[in-house]
Amino acid sequence: MTVPATEVSVHEVHLREALALARRSLEAGSSPVGAMLVDQSGQVIARGRNRTGEAQTAERVGDASVAHAEMDVFFQAGKLEDPQSLTLYSSLEPCLMCGGASALLEVGRIVWATGDPWGGAGRLLAWSDHPAMQETEIIACPLPELETEGASLFAPEAKRAFPEKGWALWREKYPVETEGV
Ligand SMILES: [Zn+2]
Repeated sequence: MTVPATEVSVHEVHLREALALARRSLEAGSSPVGAMLVDQSGQVIARGRNRTGEAQTAERVGDASVAHAEMDVFFQAGKLEDPQSLTLYSSLEPCLMCGGASALLEVGRIVWATGDPWGGAGRLLAWSDHPAMQETEIIACPLPELETEGASLFAPEAKRAFPEKGWALWREKYPVETEGV
């Protein structure tokens, strides 16, 4: 039976697109992470993806370790209007830099498909002691199917880019998805 479009979770739609953007990054020689900024009515403000392995252009950040998907989104979006009403979707739990940028910009909500037990900053975004992060709503890994998909997609990069300790955390959190990587 087909699930009516209205019942398809709004998170699912945007997380699926973030994962599709992540796959495009991988094809282009960058790390597989994609992100979207979406307003309250579901309209996409900006799409971004990791561009660390690609050239810098006039339109897009690139060729730098900080050319993360979320930063690409924020550069595209420019000055934000009513940031508290916006949701940042990412295929992977944002890192300290991107989480920090989200807090600085006062993005209201952050949703990610897959956790990153080594590089993710979710535990700080939800840090109730930090005055700039009090208002940020966090929704981590709401859809098990997409969490698995994202973990399998990023696992080779986690093994390549993270130190042994980081990879061990990935192995522990996602034993099935990291098996044989
Ligand atoms: Zn980042």
